[in-house]
Amino acid sequence: MDPDQTPSRDSGPPELARAATATLSAVTARLPGAEQRPGQLAMAAAVAEAIAAERHLVVQAGTGTGKSLAYLVPAILSGRRVVVATATRTLQDQLAGNDLPFLAEHLDRPFSFAILKGRSNYLCHQRLRELTGEGAQQELAGLVAGRAALERLAAWAARTHSGDRADLDEEPPPSLWSAVSVGPRECPGATRCPSGEICFAERARARAAASDVVVVNLHLYGLHLATGGAVLPHHEVAVIDEAHQLEEVISATAGVELGAGRFSALAHATRAVVADDTLVGDLDRAGARLASVLADHEGRRLRRPDPEVTEVIVQAREQVAAALSAARAVPADAPGDVGARRMRLLQAGTTLTEDLDAVLDVAPSEVAWVERVGTQPVLRVAPVDVAELLAEGLFGQVTTVLTSATLPPGTAGRLGLTAATATVLDVGSPFDFATQALLYCAAHLPDPRSPGFDDAAHDELAALVEAAGGRTLALFTSRRAMLAAAEELRTRLDTPVLTQDDLPRQALIDTFSSDEATSLFATMGFWQGVDIPGPSLSLVAIDRLPFPRPDEPLLQARRERARADAFRVVDLPRATTLLAQGVGRLIRSRTDRGVVAVLDRRLATARYRWEIVRVLPPMRRTRHREDAVAFLRALRADPDAALPPVSSRGAAAPGRAGPSPGRP
Ligand code: SF4
Repeated sequence: MDPDQTPSRDSGPPELARAATATLSAVTARLPGAEQRPGQLAMAAAVAEAIAAERHLVVQAGTGTGKSLAYLVPAILSGRRVVVATATRTLQDQLAGNDLPFLAEHLDRPFSFAILKGRSNYLCHQRLRELTGEGAQQELAGLVAGRAALERLAAWAARTHSGDRADLDEEPPPSLWSAVSVGPRECPGATRCPSGEICFAERARARAAASDVVVVNLHLYGLHLATGGAVLPHHEVAVIDEAHQLEEVISATAGVELGAGRFSALAHATRAVVADDTLVGDLDRAGARLASVLADHEGRRLRRPDPEVTEVIVQAREQVAAALSAARAVPADAPGDVGARRMRLLQAGTTLTEDLDAVLDVAPSEVAWVERVGTQPVLRVAPVDVAELLAEGLFGQVTTVLTSATLPPGTAGRLGLTAATATVLDVGSPFDFATQALLYCAAHLPDPRSPGFDDAAHDELAALVEAAGGRTLALFTSRRAMLAAAEELRTRLDTPVLTQDDLPRQALIDTFSSDEATSLFATMGFWQGVDIPGPSLSLVAIDRLPFPRPDEPLLQARRERARADAFRVVDLPRATTLLAQGVGRLIRSRTDRGVVAVLDRRLATARYRWEIVRVLPPMRRTRHREDAVAFLRALRADPDAALPPVSSRGAAAPGRAGPSPGRP
């Protein structure tokens, strides 16, 4: 980069934008198969201008844009500390393993970066010390993994620099890891912990605090917002990647979660500090009573305080208060590890008391419901709307760049941003969807809510998979539909069909990628974050438009708030975003080609269809199976085959004919 172009913290928007695009062009020229991507340069310029002007940016960048370099380069050149929050592990690994090391090597401007994870990802020295010390016989006896596994973990703890669970050669049994780690609710903090000076989690925080770029997951950023900014180091710029998941993740982390497990954990912690079996038994019984009373409400929203639930929570609060008062009576300098255990007990008990208070006083702006987590019912309370939290904790504090391959129109407004505070931009995609992909809607199938749909959908899917010669990722909106389709199609097809249950996720993706004849049937976890370029994937089939369930409590509350606009502001954006994510699995490189088949006729007939179609990549469209079959057969013979002309009737845009079936 020309030294005259070197920007400083005081550079204005045009200056930083010029430097960012020049630098980006220079560094991407060093990538294998280097090519100029106008969308990437436009995004880098927009990010630079936003940072220099301290104005928020919402940018949709389609697959293949190279958006991570487009935000990292201007953020680094700006000289400000940036936190990048991502929703998926894949993207976090890509940033930490590829993009940031690449930039560190090739940028003229030196910078440092760090990954920061939630506390329970790091081994807790204090817990390990207690567990391997004298007097832990009872705890050790309760560990299914046994002493040998604990000793292996202790040996690793002595030689690892990170203490990060992900750096272990083999995944430890969950019960062992939970015995040697702590969550934020329990850790008293380095200054009050005897092992604070050698704490892995604290060291990771210190490294992050000294770094120019910090990569975190969106849950940790949500926790940072929920705790009033107590989790992450001070930063001036936040980049939220995969921002289409922001609302959901922030709702989950901003709320309270209460189940029997928290009482049994507190009882366990109490036993190690206070020699009072009655107190420990009372805590266990309080948790059991809570589980029993919540079980009656499982899957339901609590619209008003339920007297029985309230009574159990009030009693439970008294038991926690008794445990806290007994713990306070133990001297802080009690011998052995009792002092440290006492601090954690006080921390966990105080947090539990705060959460019990929160569920006893649910505000009108919150929603409470009961759902099953693992084997236990859990009471959740979450804010209906996260815009206020985002306005105060995020947009009011740092310049924010929100980006994703899919950000439907209206996203900025829903998150509380206005034209006065944010720039909204779509930089498109470098792929030529009009020649690479065909969108087929099976408009002749029955409505997906009608009884005949499943059989007709199986017929349709069988014909398409056969034409593709396997090579199919079939995405379903329910597990029931996935299993039924897999069972039926296995009897009809000569090519293998895997479901998501057959192998661990990565093994499934590897098998699918390496065997072109294999088809993979999966549900929600595979609609996003799956990247399979090449001829193994020629057909993405989607059974239904992914509208959320009508009884999801949080969305139900949002619908009530939106009243007549509910479908447009709650259901449609969610279904559109998820559908676009699913569709986005097909074209992952300039040479990919294939068909997206949507078996839900509403994409061709419903009155809201264009609001969905406009958000999808600009593919050719057809309603005729023969067009899709012809293209799939051509691709089977030649993966580079050009998209044949679609039938004249088929060239018609979805929705020109047919009645609107109305709301889903
Ligand atoms: S501060 Fe102490 S209790 Fe907290 S994670 Fe570190 S070692 Fe464990």
